[in-house]
Amino acid sequence: MKKLMSLAILLLAFSVQAQDELTSQLYETYEDYKESSIGERRIKHADIQPLIQKFKANPKFEVQKVGESIQGRDLHLISIGSGDSDIFLWSQMHGNEPTATQAIFDILNFLDAPEFKAEKQEILSNLKLHFLPMLNPDGAEVFTRRNALGIDINRDALRLQSPEGQTLKRLRDSLDADFGFNLHDQSTYYNAERTEKPATISYLATAYNYEKDINEVRANAMKVIVYMNKIIQNYAPGQVGRYSDDFEPRAFGDNIAKWGTSLILIESGGFPGDPEKQEIRKLNYVSILSALYTIANESFKSISTEDYEKIPRNDRKLFDLKIENVTYELLGDDYILDLGVFNNEVDLEGHNQFYYQSSVADQGDLSTYYAYKTFDAQGYKIVAPKMAKVEQIGDAMDLLKDGIAFVKTEKPEKSEFIHLPLIMVNKDFELKSFRMEPGINPTFFLEKDEKLTHAIINGFLIDLSKPLNQQNIGNGLITGQ
Ligand SMILES: [Zn+2]
Repeated sequence: MKKLMSLAILLLAFSVQAQDELTSQLYETYEDYKESSIGERRIKHADIQPLIQKFKANPKFEVQKVGESIQGRDLHLISIGSGDSDIFLWSQMHGNEPTATQAIFDILNFLDAPEFKAEKQEILSNLKLHFLPMLNPDGAEVFTRRNALGIDINRDALRLQSPEGQTLKRLRDSLDADFGFNLHDQSTYYNAERTEKPATISYLATAYNYEKDINEVRANAMKVIVYMNKIIQNYAPGQVGRYSDDFEPRAFGDNIAKWGTSLILIESGGFPGDPEKQEIRKLNYVSILSALYTIANESFKSISTEDYEKIPRNDRKLFDLKIENVTYELLGDDYILDLGVFNNEVDLEGHNQFYYQSSVADQGDLSTYYAYKTFDAQGYKIVAPKMAKVEQIGDAMDLLKDGIAFVKTEKPEKSEFIHLPLIMVNKDFELKSFRMEPGINPTFFLEKDEKLTHAIINGFLIDLSKPLNQQNIGNGLITGQ
């Protein structure tokens, strides 16, 4: 008996090692399988049609039209594998959450390629995989969460008014999958609770009742999540959160869990210096493929669900920029403030590109908050921006060093933003007296020992002692007001 036990432990250790090996190989060879035609977040239904057609023409895959969106865009299910266990993965139920849609096409490329034969054999002989990428193509068209009816499909699991939701429900019922992967994006402002680390990936083994009971179906989801968390820790240490497991009776995940599928929610959040979320896409790819492998060889079954509770909870305590301990003068008195700034994205026409229009999100004691960029401004004082009339802009840095952020021109460009750290205004513009308050566009200067040291232009911090081309200046604005 003892011998058998030690053999079992040895085998387990071997399989864990083999899996860790696979994970690092998947990470290292990722670029070979990355679907390079969809490299930014604002992908559209039209962008993925050639890819779907490519897999339709490939005998390894089974591709079927399974429904249509309200505006008539086709929904496709792509299946591969001959196993008895069905796995159902769907993405972009929310139109502005495309990261996993991209990762799905990377995974399909991987499954089609000749390499990793043994591992793929293990996956595809034990499992049948079903992918539904971009469940909400009408929302993706205008890069918005909701569908064309203006409803959140993820609150339509009971009423089933949306054709997209009806398709998801019909597939759930016909596949009756053992595992479901419900793939979303979350705000980049989520962090792992009580740390400055962004929740780059958040997981949830979705609850199936208000009591949040753990039955075998839910426990299996927890075990696979523990495994995926371990993988992500290698590439984004500390950057995993556990999504709230409050039961939502109208949501698909909660109902699909109730209907008997082990449901894994994956939320792609933020990663420093990765606004288009391509590193997070890669982490989706690596962790989902590794999860499929552990489900296929059933090694997940030996994982303890207790480790699930050890994953830190999601919190929402991040800003893009935080300026700490800055001195602000109001009516002749000095006050110490922390400032929290959001670099909000505004879509351009066509929803293919965006610019930043930042805002002060909060001010006061923000010591329980964190940011992607933090500046300790102890001993620095806020200085109001000045305006100047300029015939032609030479060096933006020369203007900033003189405390000028607002530039008046006779003929402003027909655009809403500018690739310079300045606010361009028309000839009738009048600069109001500066007042720091939540909601304003953060454009001002910092001085120390009576010398200007930094400019904050449209919420981006610029060090006046360093060349502009070595800094993330975001964008300036062109405004008529
Ligand atoms: Zn979502």
